[in-house]
Amino acid sequence: MNIFSNFESGNIDVVKADQPGDIQLRIKKDNQSDFYQWFHFRLETQAQVEHGFELQDLAKSAYPEGWKDYDVVASYDREEWFRIPAEFDGDTLRFKVIPEQRSMYFAYFAPYSYDRHLDLLHQAQMNFNCELETLGSTLDNNDISLLTVGEPGEGKKKIWIIARQHPGETMAEWFMEGLLQRLLDETDTVGRALLERAVFYIVPNMNPDGSIRGHLRTNAAGINLNREWLTPSMEKSPEVFLVRERMLETGVDMFLDIHGDEAIPYNFVAGCEGIPSYDERHATLEHNFKQALLTITPEFQDDYGYDKDAPGEANLSMGTAWVGEQFKCLAYTVEMPFKDHNLQPDAFYGWSPERSLAFGQDMLAAVRVVVDQLR
Ligand SMILES: [Zn+2]
Repeated sequence: MNIFSNFESGNIDVVKADQPGDIQLRIKKDNQSDFYQWFHFRLETQAQVEHGFELQDLAKSAYPEGWKDYDVVASYDREEWFRIPAEFDGDTLRFKVIPEQRSMYFAYFAPYSYDRHLDLLHQAQMNFNCELETLGSTLDNNDISLLTVGEPGEGKKKIWIIARQHPGETMAEWFMEGLLQRLLDETDTVGRALLERAVFYIVPNMNPDGSIRGHLRTNAAGINLNREWLTPSMEKSPEVFLVRERMLETGVDMFLDIHGDEAIPYNFVAGCEGIPSYDERHATLEHNFKQALLTITPEFQDDYGYDKDAPGEANLSMGTAWVGEQFKCLAYTVEMPFKDHNLQPDAFYGWSPERSLAFGQDMLAAVRVVVDQLR
C-alpha cells in the first residue's frame, strides 16, 4: 500500500499507513502560513479490501466547521468525482472505502489542473472577440492571465470577473469554465446580448502558484490575496497588484469575485453594504441582481450566507469591498459550497464541477438582467 502526493496540487502528510484499516493522515500548511484545509492524494493498494482513513488535527485547520457534514471527494478516473461519507468528531475526519480499483484519488474538492487552466485560456482565445494576455508573473514565475472578451466601444460597460484568489476553491474555476462557454457560444443569445453592451475582463485563476502548490488560501509567499487590495505589492502580491493596475486603467462597472465556502452548505453572495459610499442606487442594483439570480436558478438562495457588514465597517482590503468603493459599482463575492447546496442536495456527488459550471452559465443570465442598469 502506498500513498502519493508528489504531483500538481498534491497535499498530504502520512502519519501511519502500514495497515489498510488504520491509515492516519495530516494536511500540510500553505507555505509560510498557518492555513491548511486542501488535501489531494492518491492511494495505490489492493482493491476490494476495506480501508479506514483518519484525517487528523483538523481542529486547528483554517475552517474546522468545514469538516462537519463534509463528505470526501474521490475518483478512479480523475474525470468523475464522487463522495465518500465521512464522520467528524471535532478534530479527526474518519472515512472508510473499499476501492474498486488499485489506484484511487482523494481530494477536498474536484481538482482543476493547471493544464486544464491553460486549455481554458487557449480555447477561449480561438473565439474571434476574445484576447489572451499575460499581465505579468507570479512569485513562482507562473503567468497571471487575463481574457478580454468583446469589442471596446462607446458606452460599453466594463465587467470584471475573477476567480481562485483562494486556490483551493477549485469550484471557482469550474464556474469560470461554464461562464466562458456561455459567453463565447455564438449560438447563445445571452452571451450575444451581453457582448453588445459590455466588455468582459476575466481572470480565471488569480493564484496559479497556490493552485499548483496545493494550497488552500495563499500564494507562494503565504499571502492571502483577498486581504491585499488596499496595498498590494509586486514583492508580496503581484497577482493583485497587476490586476488592480489594469482595473484602474479600464474602469469597472461591475465586479464578481468567485469563491468556495468551506462551512456554509449553500450558494450565496456577499455584497458591499459596509463600504463608505454605499447608497440607495447601490442597494437597488444589488437587490435587482439577487432577484434575477433567484428567478433564474434554484441553485441560488439569499437566506443563508455571511452576516451583513454594519454601515462603514467593510474590510476594504478585500477585493469586492475595494472595487465596490473605488468604482462605486455593483460588486459581489460569489460563494459556492465544498459540501452541497442543501436546498438541492445530491447524496452521490454533492456540490460538483458540473453544477459549478451550470451556476457560472446562470450567473451570466443574471448579469444580462442588470447590465443596462450599470453605469
Ligand atoms: Zn475564498
